[in-house]
Amino acid sequence: MSTLNFTRLVLVCDGCKKRHGDPHGHNSAHEARVAAYIDGWRFPSTIKSNGQPGSASCDVCPDCLPTWEPQHYLARPGRAARLSVDSAPRPEEGQ
Ligand SMILES: [Zn+2]
Repeated sequence: MSTLNFTRLVLVCDGCKKRHGDPHGHNSAHEARVAAYIDGWRFPSTIKSNGQPGSASCDVCPDCLPTWEPQHYLARPGRAARLSVDSAPRPEEGQ
């Protein structure tokens, strides 16, 4: 059997787990972040153990932004998950 896989991206807030991009997702991480930025999301850097900004970033929705505390790299939640079509977001599920 020959198969084709395709990937769609949905951003998940590192604070409240709200999703951006439902129900269809985005083509790329860049596209997802541009779209989320327009909606008020920001992508603050993580911090290193010495308190300096790290090279990784978090995804933070507008609701979490006012109270967002910089996170250490290892404290971040899992960065990616693979969903089946059945577990993919549905329009009627809201966020
Ligand atoms: Zn949030």
